[in-house]
Amino acid sequence: MSDNILILHPRNAHAVFEDIPTLINELKNAGFLGENKEIGEIRREEGKYYFKPGEHFFELVKFQSSHKVLIIDGPNISPEEAEVVDSKTQVYISISKPTEKVYYLGGFFFYKASCPKCGYQYELEFLSSWFEKNKFMLSENCPQCGEEFFINDLDWQMRAGFGRQEIEIWGIHKDEAVPTERLLKLLKEITQIEWRYFFYRF
Ligand SMILES: [Zn+2]
Repeated sequence: MSDNILILHPRNAHAVFEDIPTLINELKNAGFLGENKEIGEIRREEGKYYFKPGEHFFELVKFQSSHKVLIIDGPNISPEEAEVVDSKTQVYISISKPTEKVYYLGGFFFYKASCPKCGYQYELEFLSSWFEKNKFMLSENCPQCGEEFFINDLDWQMRAGFGRQEIEIWGIHKDEAVPTERLLKLLKEITQIEWRYFFYRF
């Protein structure tokens, strides 16, 4: 079974909003987050808070499509007996405390990054030396067109991001749903920082 997550995170890889109780409260008030969700021990991660979608969640995250999910509830249920439901009914959200360092939030390997202006394909060596030099804090110039970019502003094909903090929306396949402008604006109002998003599958 794979997990498919829509990840929201600060555009500036180093930026964090430390006040997690305020973030949670404000997102609950806006109807993005609903009640706390129980997560089984196997899936639960230390330092994460889990929520059901709030009453306005589906206005703040716009779905173009969804997929079918098999609910295998217990060890003795075969796939034939499992209940089939729409993935939208299974969506939940997790919020993490900021980490000390900047991490590659996109998984186990680098997706290809290209220049959003001229399309130049960045070499892995270039990206790793960028990381070594300054932990992605500074911008770099595109080797082809010379335009200056921060790491999160390269074209990662919506498959990668870097940062110290994230809001994960579980159960969304790539391009099935996107955060609305209203949600991104709301996050900026609460945290005073810009947010971006990408899709993660593992
Ligand atoms: Zn370029």
